[in-house]
Amino acid sequence: MKIHEYQGKEILRKYGVTVPRGIPCNSVDEAVKAAETLGGPVWVVKAQIHAGGRGKGGGVKVAKSLEQVREYATAILGMQLVTHQTGPEGQKVRRLLIEEGADIQKELYVSLVTDRVTQRVVLMASSEGGMDIEEVAESHPELLHHVAIDPSVGLTDAEADAISAKIGVPPASIVDARTQLQGLYKAYWETDASLAEINPLILTGSGKVIALDAKFNFDANALYRQPEIVAFRDLDEEDPAEVEASKFDLAYISLDGDIGCLVNGAGLAMATMDTIKLFGGEPANFLDVGGGATAEKVTEAFKIMLKNPGLKAILVNIFGGIMKCDVIAEGVIVASKAVSLKVPLVVRMKGTNEDLGKKMLAESGLPIIAADTMEDAARQVVAAAKAH
Ligand code: ADP
Ligand code: MG
Repeated sequence: MKIHEYQGKEILRKYGVTVPRGIPCNSVDEAVKAAETLGGPVWVVKAQIHAGGRGKGGGVKVAKSLEQVREYATAILGMQLVTHQTGPEGQKVRRLLIEEGADIQKELYVSLVTDRVTQRVVLMASSEGGMDIEEVAESHPELLHHVAIDPSVGLTDAEADAISAKIGVPPASIVDARTQLQGLYKAYWETDASLAEINPLILTGSGKVIALDAKFNFDANALYRQPEIVAFRDLDEEDPAEVEASKFDLAYISLDGDIGCLVNGAGLAMATMDTIKLFGGEPANFLDVGGGATAEKVTEAFKIMLKNPGLKAILVNIFGGIMKCDVIAEGVIVASKAVSLKVPLVVRMKGTNEDLGKKMLAESGLPIIAADTMEDAARQVVAAAKAH
């Protein structure tokens, strides 16, 4: 789960990390009032969307007067902000953060991620802040430093100080940087984050260390014990199909292709998408209806897939284990009738009550294409999508 920069900064503040004073706003008038409240002489008007690269896309502007705050807020609020992380269609800006302007002397980079290889939280840092870290990793890997943190002791003073020195924090600011890095680590750890990125972390003219940007991702599997994080969720920023699916406990991810997939089990769903691609098709989605799907759940899954205007065919691939094939067949029949299905539907079923399920589909009178093997199913659905 992702959150906005202003929410990330709320978390950081709570953990003792220094961030600029700022006020989130929903309108131009609020933005001007926020700037008045903060006091001058320099403010930064920042678009709040769940994507980075806002500065380059025109979503971060430095204002030197209240008139300019109004001008920039008017321009940014409501704009379709395109960055390298939003895709070409961009993301609509519904919220702004008005922040006091910081006196930037140097922009640094720090982030935390959970590293599967070391099975630890890794702190990464670079002297090259403000730019895309992927680019730094590519062209100057020697400027990207990292340390794997022992969970039983946390980020030690020595580790924090050593990495700070490597990225060019001057001796007089090392203790300040330590406070920021240790606060960031504690925030990451206690909120079950999966990514925390401060780009840039800055050194000010007076040697202070401040987090100027804040990007957090959280482990969705830990949200049950993070009510304060869940409260930060902004559904406007999420894919509507995925939001709808989550209400029915369906694991659904929108993709770019035109073949809808309804599968039980994440592994089988992945294999199904691979097989479709192997035979020249492109999946429109990943969908795992889970082990205990009911006819109602299957119907909802169909409805979500069919909202995609680019959909050309659907493949249902079910292994009847805990979930019986006749239950899925019933769901498919009810759903197909309820949504008056207009795209070809290929169904492959194996396992418990397979014969009964197949019989129900055959007798339903629906134009369902039956398939026996994965290969057969993929070939048929790719052909059906091409013909549609
Ligand atoms: P993004 O990473 O999405 O482009 P940032 O929050 O990193 O957004 O802002 C982009 C750039 O704008 C920063 O690298 C920094 O140079 C400048 N900036 C952001 N916030 C402030 C601020 N409060 N004061 C001064 N400059 C800022
Ligand atoms: Mg940034």
